[in-house]
Amino acid sequence: AGLAEGLTRGIEGLGDRVGQAFFEPVIRLGVTGLARAGKTVFITSLVANLLDRARMPGLMAAAEGRIVAAYLQPQPDVTLPRFDYETHLAALTGPAPHWPESTRAVSELRLSLRVRPAGLLAGVTGPRVVHLDIVDYPGEWLLDLALLDKSYDVWSAEVLGRIATRAEAAGYLAQVAQVDGAARLAEPTAQTLARGFTAYLEDARAAGFYDCTPGRFLLPGDLAGSPVVTFAPLPQVPGAGRGSLRAEMARRYEAYKHMVVRPFFRDHFARIDRQVVLVDALDAIHKGPQALEDMRRAMAEILGAFRPGRNAFLARLLLGRRVERILFAATKADHLHHSQHGRLSAIMAALLREARDRAEFSGAEVQAMALAALRATTEERVAHGGRDLDCVRGQLLDSGRQAAFHAGELPEDPAQLIGPARAGAEAWLDADYSVMRFAPAPLSLRPGEGPPHIRLDRAAQFLIGDRL
Ligand code: GDP
Repeated sequence: AGLAEGLTRGIEGLGDRVGQAFFEPVIRLGVTGLARAGKTVFITSLVANLLDRARMPGLMAAAEGRIVAAYLQPQPDVTLPRFDYETHLAALTGPAPHWPESTRAVSELRLSLRVRPAGLLAGVTGPRVVHLDIVDYPGEWLLDLALLDKSYDVWSAEVLGRIATRAEAAGYLAQVAQVDGAARLAEPTAQTLARGFTAYLEDARAAGFYDCTPGRFLLPGDLAGSPVVTFAPLPQVPGAGRGSLRAEMARRYEAYKHMVVRPFFRDHFARIDRQVVLVDALDAIHKGPQALEDMRRAMAEILGAFRPGRNAFLARLLLGRRVERILFAATKADHLHHSQHGRLSAIMAALLREARDRAEFSGAEVQAMALAALRATTEERVAHGGRDLDCVRGQLLDSGRQAAFHAGELPEDPAQLIGPARAGAEAWLDADYSVMRFAPAPLSLRPGEGPPHIRLDRAAQFLIGDRL
């Protein structure tokens, strides 16, 4: 009897596990974008609004009242940092709302939804649980994929060629001119060069350049100070043999690829089902044509990372598995009056079309849109110089003052901004845009002030709606 009982228990236990695997589907949603694109705010707001559900009319399952419960659960990956939802939410919704700390590394959060099925099944089966595993990771790390195909020689030559005329690189290039790559490695020299190159990358990023690899130089996570991020591009020199500065740089570069880039793609990237890529398109538009052109290239590169067969290493890793949906979303749409939102969406769509062509991308369903995860502004019309201007009003981050701005008009035809016929160096968002740094607004649901987000529900519908 003991044996039979044990056996039954065993089978039941197995049944539970199999049952869970079969009947509780998991959606792994990747959230990425370069630093300051809005990942932390997006995830915090998405989770808060899914927990609440009252303000997500564009998410069909929510609108139909089919999400009967939503709750946070311990995540399955026990060694990964948990996305610090509670702290971020407290920052945004406390008595003195402030923006939360930004993403610095990978983190994860599991939100479980109990959903009643739609349509014919509704009367037949009860609610089932769908787990949403949200994986937050820096877009900088994604761009590192391009390094996997490149040797140190090729990478160095490319980088040095690209930065030769960039003002931001002058300091680093002066350092390079001082060192002899064939000389024996001295650790302080390697460290000075790595610091110099990192400083260049930071300045370049701030200036609007997107081609800023290695990604961990900008966001090192727990690698800061380790040899694997203590290298920099150096020109080829004759006689740089074993033990030389340049040979050691090359060795570290290879180690970076094998021990940092590959594990990231293996452990996180390869398991993603749905992906949202956040971009600060308004910032790029404001910075000018060069920044926008660079952003477009970065979008193509990111899309390329999702292209099946893009890279032999990835192809082996994915074994035909692919991400099903990718959303490119311009964040911070609340910086513009809604009369401009359609234009911003059109610009995103045009950028995405371009990026798709460039990356020869096919496979996943892709979409572009403009959204604000957390509205920090209200809208108003202000009489100015004899005409009415559509403005957004908010509390300035620095002074705490309330102010209304008109950021300028986006072009009606995206081609004026991004096509080959784009209008030279014309700036589309005027000077006002650069001072528009708003504090998060205290949550107010007064009639006429609109919902606390813009199109977050539509984004959720595209990303997970079909699975609910
Ligand atoms: P991350 O680096 O991608 O995690 O970016 P964050 O989520 O930390 O956002 C960076 C900054 O962008 C925030 O501190 C805010 O100033 C701003 N921001 C992000 N989302 C929004 C939004 O929906 N509306 C507005 N007005 N600002 C936002």
